[in-house]
Amino acid sequence: HAGASTHVDDFARIFGIETEYGVSVTGASRPCDAGQVAMMMFQPIMRRVRSTNTYLTNGSRIYLDVGAHPEYATAEARTPGDATLADAAGERIMRDMALDAQRRLRETHGEHATVHLFKNNADSAGHSFGCHENYLVRRGVALTQIETQLLPFLITRQIFTGAGRFDGAYWHVTQRAAFVDETVSSATTRSRPMINTRDEPHADPESFRRLHVIIGDSNRSQWATMMKLATTHLVLCLMEWGARHAAPTGLESIALADPVEANLAVDTDGARATLRLADGTTTSPLALQRRVLGAVLHFVDARRDEVAASLAGDPLTTLDDVLGDWGRGLNALDDGDDDGDDGAESLADRADWACKRRFAARLAARGTVDPMRLAQLDLDYHDIANGALFDSLTRHGMMRTLCDDAQIEAAVTTPPAGTRAVLRGAFVDHAEAAPVTWSCDWTQLRLTEPVKDEVMILDPFDAVGDERYAQLLALVDAAG
Ligand code: ATP
Ligand code: MG
Ligand code: MG
Repeated sequence: HAGASTHVDDFARIFGIETEYGVSVTGASRPCDAGQVAMMMFQPIMRRVRSTNTYLTNGSRIYLDVGAHPEYATAEARTPGDATLADAAGERIMRDMALDAQRRLRETHGEHATVHLFKNNADSAGHSFGCHENYLVRRGVALTQIETQLLPFLITRQIFTGAGRFDGAYWHVTQRAAFVDETVSSATTRSRPMINTRDEPHADPESFRRLHVIIGDSNRSQWATMMKLATTHLVLCLMEWGARHAAPTGLESIALADPVEANLAVDTDGARATLRLADGTTTSPLALQRRVLGAVLHFVDARRDEVAASLAGDPLTTLDDVLGDWGRGLNALDDGDDDGDDGAESLADRADWACKRRFAARLAARGTVDPMRLAQLDLDYHDIANGALFDSLTRHGMMRTLCDDAQIEAAVTTPPAGTRAVLRGAFVDHAEAAPVTWSCDWTQLRLTEPVKDEVMILDPFDAVGDERYAQLLALVDAAG
């Protein structure tokens, strides 16, 4: 059994996206709060597994802490496209749970009771909730490099991955920038960092860390979800290669003088914001992204096959597509004129922030729009249960989609290929069909009744399983 040493020396990666959703309810005939509705969403799961924290047959984790922010964490995926599909499946699962809760709510709270489930990152009370990206990264990459080379990329990446937010007066490029105030941190509670280094790799800790990116927005655009993972993957490949060969990456000069200040500048001024670099010069997010893309292109040029192999089997994209789309996205933002639209027009079919801004601009062109109405539209765009705007935009071809319904439907029940999610998914599938008590987490599968057994799968790339795994599955089946 190859075990945890697999893929230490190539560019294979594990991707995972955690999405916290916001819940609210309108039109109820008597008082009812969001926390109650979130609990109602989880009642069927509660009944099934006696917990609001469980894993599904597609390998994902779904859970509800106290409060009204249900979370869906995708299973481990090997490619950005697999992770994008897994995230879309999560949307569908959450939507169905919300609509099911709404049906039951209407029996007691009137036929107009409506459940809203927001895939965004800020509610009207000013609370922020997250969308975390997880990347398996080789240990050789130093934390200082993450801060000086990766962070500037992540902050400026938002010119195409930002989900946009209307604050009642202005449109922001991102949902989250106003809510993070630290760069790299190991704590999660008091501080609000952009990257968390809390060390739970869910893999061999000698070789890997799990990079926890907190700065990103929840995206409705599939293109944005895919591109944020794919471009970050390529930058990480470059950094890992640099660490392995003690070679320069070409990203040495992009360190920011003040990342928190830069993050806020991108949020308000977009692609043309002024950014101060640590070396005393200034640049823009667009120019900084072009430097990163240039370094990545140079790196890929010399080892195209190796890097392409890391994306082999991606159901939605290829290395050439990612590189091409990255360049085209930046070019679209650089529309050459100075009409202040910040490229929103040309990116409106791909970037969430641009899509909403174009829509608002078109409304404004027809007459004055009430800020309340814009705030409503902003929310509606993110409402995966009862929102109308996003679906209408995709139906009319005004927002790109990367996958079809059948692919998403398949990802609701099928784990991403080539990872231990396959083993977890089969375990959950068998366990749910048998009279057994079970539990699991990212690295362990556990049977507690009628007999005890436990298997650890430390290698996230293991989709085959060993004898111990086969025995565990046999024990589950024997109980049935
Ligand atoms: P919190 O919810 O408090 O932020 P967390 O981020 O540690 O906790 P989860 O919410 O359970 O934990 O999500 C873990 C995510 O990490 C999942 O999306 C999962 O697919 C992904 N993941 C699991 N193993 C690895 C790994 N070895 N490398 C990268 N990502 C991983
Ligand atoms: Mg989580
Ligand atoms: Mg997390």
